[in-house]
Amino acid sequence: MGVTVQTSEINHSEVSSNNSAPENRKNGIGESIADAVINLDHGDPTMFEAYWEKMRERSAVTLLGSQSLSYFSDPKNLCWFLEPKLEQEIKRLHTIVGNVAIEEGQYYIVVGTGSSQLIQAALYALSPPDAAATVVCAAPYYSAYPEVTDLVRSRRFEWGGDARSFERDDEPFIELVTTPNNPDGVIREAVVNRPHGSVVYDLAYYWPHFTPITAPANHHLMLFTFSKCTGHAGSRIGWALVKDKEVAKKMIKFMEVSTIGVSKDSQLRAAKILGTVSDSCSTGADIENFFVFSRNILKERWNRLREVVKAADLFTLLKYPTQYCRFAKDMTDTVPAFAWIATKGEEDCAEVLKKHKILGRGGTKFGVGKQFARISLVSKDEEFNLLLQRLSIIQGTDDLNYE
Ligand code: PMP
Repeated sequence: MGVTVQTSEINHSEVSSNNSAPENRKNGIGESIADAVINLDHGDPTMFEAYWEKMRERSAVTLLGSQSLSYFSDPKNLCWFLEPKLEQEIKRLHTIVGNVAIEEGQYYIVVGTGSSQLIQAALYALSPPDAAATVVCAAPYYSAYPEVTDLVRSRRFEWGGDARSFERDDEPFIELVTTPNNPDGVIREAVVNRPHGSVVYDLAYYWPHFTPITAPANHHLMLFTFSKCTGHAGSRIGWALVKDKEVAKKMIKFMEVSTIGVSKDSQLRAAKILGTVSDSCSTGADIENFFVFSRNILKERWNRLREVVKAADLFTLLKYPTQYCRFAKDMTDTVPAFAWIATKGEEDCAEVLKKHKILGRGGTKFGVGKQFARISLVSKDEEFNLLLQRLSIIQGTDDLNYE
């Protein structure tokens, strides 16, 4: 069984905020499963491996030694390092899913090394040249935003915390809106709504396996990530859809200066994978629909998790509304990639979990109290089953059988 604890030495809040604890440095090898620590601190999307294992041949990419020599992909494109095939597959998938009004041809696509790089590029592009913009997001916010904003202590922008507390009419701001939200899966809108500001929509989870697609999004600047769409976090591909040409140009400049573009190899792989997902959604497809497959797993996990949480009286979970999904052509509900759990009292939720060898991420990292914690629900089956067993023990309901 592949239940491991330590996966990375990288010091980034999304991948490793809990990894420095010495007890996490062991792995599952040689340990009994009952003793293994399950690391659900980061949202490592290994759940999707089951689908891609089935699509092994269909999604394989062969790269020849003679490929990817040039820095340039398409000198005629504003984003000169964007591979034409990737651009085509991004547009095709958005059109099939209906999550973006892309067919109107009003967006410049900027590719990035994950959407993490694009967040930085967007802050650079949207901040005014002569004053520092305050970067805000309504709490609970994605824990990487403060770190990404303040890492290099730029004079162009600085982290300002919870968007609901931002009340300065005369100051430039950039609001980050994550919808559905990480950590809590809630559908959101901008909250500041004042002059002198810009809004960046982080739509990492606006895909039909996680949430109903209620309308095509058409905001000025939207971010998407390959990591959460198909599960290929390791390929490090994200894309921004940008209406304003000058903003797109500045983001491209950021990418040019920081990494001279984005790996062509990864872009070609992403194009192949996104193409396979689109193929799987076509009418009469001979392969299983990727979003239906993934949604079914998440739905089942949520049902089982709710059953365990309900069986005792220690934690609470949020409820999500059911809405009409344009993609599923049916009523569906949100089944987030993370569970945002809270202790009913004032206990430190992450500490309670840790005592039972479950690593989650505590609420303070998301700008709220320690009675909250986020745990990933997109790990492999073994880890998820173990999570339910551990939760049952905490809650004294371990007579339930979760195999
Ligand atoms: N935005 C949100 C809301 C996320 O949850 C994540 C990944 N955890 C990212 C951005 C960054 O994704 P990427 O892997 O593309 O850098």
